[in-house]
Amino acid sequence: TQISTLIRSRLTETPDFPSPGILFRDLSGLFADGAALRAVADELIEGFGPIDAVVGVEARGFVLGAAAAVAGGLGMLAVRKAGKLPGEVLAESYELEYGTATLEVHPDSLPRGARVVIVDDVLATGGTLTATLRLMERAGWEVAGIAVVIELSSEFDGRGVLAASTDAPVKALV
Ligand code: 5GP
Repeated sequence: TQISTLIRSRLTETPDFPSPGILFRDLSGLFADGAALRAVADELIEGFGPIDAVVGVEARGFVLGAAAAVAGGLGMLAVRKAGKLPGEVLAESYELEYGTATLEVHPDSLPRGARVVIVDDVLATGGTLTATLRLMERAGWEVAGIAVVIELSSEFDGRGVLAASTDAPVKALV
């Protein structure tokens, strides 16, 4: 499609970053292009029905989530890495290749029953979004959908991993 061609033209792939054997996809070029960012923002939240807010996962999900939220006239909620949010938080830890990571959210930012779309740049193993789904469930928010710019479907089965945690549709633009 047109949007995937646009994204591919603004995407860089860097071998062995941040560590040997990793092919790192970076969307800085897309973020720097106003028309491309707007097109992606619109597309990320399209087709999920009524939504109350966009949830963005640190850090590139903040850029995309905030852009999508403004495009849709919605609020944006940050899922942050551990220790960044003041006050009472919900926390979920998940496994990385080496060690664990923790994500946190403020449960009082939205009423229970709110419908959200979760946004991130890349879906790889699905670990990050699975932890985010658990946070949404514990906060009492209904996940209308998950939207990513890039799904690394030939390298990982992130989509299959997410299907074990949610019936919500998963949309990938590339
Ligand atoms: P997962 O948890 O699905 O294995 O990895 C997804 C998370 O790691 C996302 O938050 C994403 O930002 C980050 N990530 C994994 N691979 C890449 C990559 O190639 N490029 C970028 N920008 N982020 C990545």
